Amino acid sequence: MTETAAPPSGDHETKRTLVEEVIVPDHPPRKASHEFLTNRVLLITRMGLGCWICGSFGSKAAPLEVHHLHEWSLWDALDPAKVLQTLHCFDPYGFTMKAGLAPIESPDDVRNLLVLCSSCELEGQAIAGGHHRGVDAGIHALTWPIWLAQRAARAGVSLTEALTSAKAADPALAGPGKGAP
Ligand SMILES: [Zn+2]
Repeated sequence: MTETAAPPSGDHETKRTLVEEVIVPDHPPRKASHEFLTNRVLLITRMGLGCWICGSFGSKAAPLEVHHLHEWSLWDALDPAKVLQTLHCFDPYGFTMKAGLAPIESPDDVRNLLVLCSSCELEGQAIAGGHHRGVDAGIHALTWPIWLAQRAARAGVSLTEALTSAKAADPALAGPGKGAP
């Protein structure tokens, strides 16, 4: 019989450096379409949705943002029929189920949109970019399993070093000699 060492206890950090190289199809300069602006109003103003991860409703200084589930810049490389299949699996607001098999022709279609915060708060510290673009917090900064798990994290539990990253980026909180003169 062989004894094995007890597994380490306590929280531990796993660190992964991800280098992502994406071939983005040629596309015209981006500007918010009428469809996008209309859908933003629908989701945020008329439906009153909050951030899909943390539920926050944003503020004047840090308003809610609308994320494209399938990236706007990649749209021309995607097969709309396959996009629709995916959106039938990930249908956070039920729009895809409601629309059935109606073709999706634009990344700005409401079925492809998700409301996220542009700033969230951990232990009183604002995390700039929030669950959209925030370092160690946003969908554009984390891998899917870690980003998604934030939505289900137990109260008071941080799954990433977003707080540490935010403090490091904030001269007022970086500590002596690290920040502001
Ligand atoms: Zn959020």
